[in-house]
Amino acid sequence: MANDSLWETSAVKILRAQPGFELAQLDRNSTPGFTGNKADGQRLLEERGGVLSDLQELLYANGRSGDTRSVLLVLQGMDTAGKGGMMRHVIGHVDPQGVDHASFGVPTDEEKKHHFLWRIRKELPRNGYLGVFDRSHYEDVLVVRVHDLVPPTVWGARYDEINQFEKELVDAGTTIIKVAMFVSLDEQKKRLQERLDRPEKYWKYNPSDVSERKLWPAYQDAYQAMLDKTSTEHAPWYIVPCDRKWYSRIAVTELLIDAFEKMNLSWPPADFDVEIEKARLADS
Ligand code: ADP
Repeated sequence: MANDSLWETSAVKILRAQPGFELAQLDRNSTPGFTGNKADGQRLLEERGGVLSDLQELLYANGRSGDTRSVLLVLQGMDTAGKGGMMRHVIGHVDPQGVDHASFGVPTDEEKKHHFLWRIRKELPRNGYLGVFDRSHYEDVLVVRVHDLVPPTVWGARYDEINQFEKELVDAGTTIIKVAMFVSLDEQKKRLQERLDRPEKYWKYNPSDVSERKLWPAYQDAYQAMLDKTSTEHAPWYIVPCDRKWYSRIAVTELLIDAFEKMNLSWPPADFDVEIEKARLADS
């Protein structure tokens, strides 16, 4: 069986947020569109990771030749959803030279003095680069909303601001792939437990992660609002169940491959005379 046919419906089609989507109904342990098992998924990840790597090299080559396009992968999810693993196991397939990575934690004093998009704009991918955001401007309508860090009128206005901001980016040549990663409350508990049970995982444990679990329903509401208000034609959300890491990784790999393929990239032509250069090299 060809690996391709393990997807009965493509990731890009089945995971795209649809109007009326209800987050409460999402089975976070499911593997939408994929008919294979974990071993199939792991094998496919290696194979498709190679395809992704070739496509990213094409983008990079074009960027070096003046193409102003870029790709931005936005990873947004609760703690333990697997954002770090996405970096290692998906983005890890591509040449790090072509990746612009940024993660967004609690804003610094300097960042707090500015508009919430200020720190985001500074980290946008350069021309020809694959940008990856580990958390993003969406924190400003998620954690900020849940913890009442600014008044509702302020965070309430941000959805439109974000849509407009992303439209600007898309118009300027950035393809944005927004991935909302959803782990279940039970699976999150298991993953946090593992961080407490294994010394090599202590560094990943943050006591505040457990406090945030109490706010789970408020976070789910905030994520639902985010999906309802910011899944646009120009920058749709993709909803990825993350209880099975192997699935979320192949799903995001496919979303990236699809985005790169839609860019119709080809190798940039030489900006020198190839025959003359061959002759010069032979003589040298
Ligand atoms: P991680 O937990 O992903 O390893 P960090 O510990 O560096 O990363 O920081 C993440 C924390 O920063 C999360 O709790 C997140 O909600 C918080 N954070 C991110 N952006 C903001 C923001 N704009 N306002 C307040 N808190 C934020």
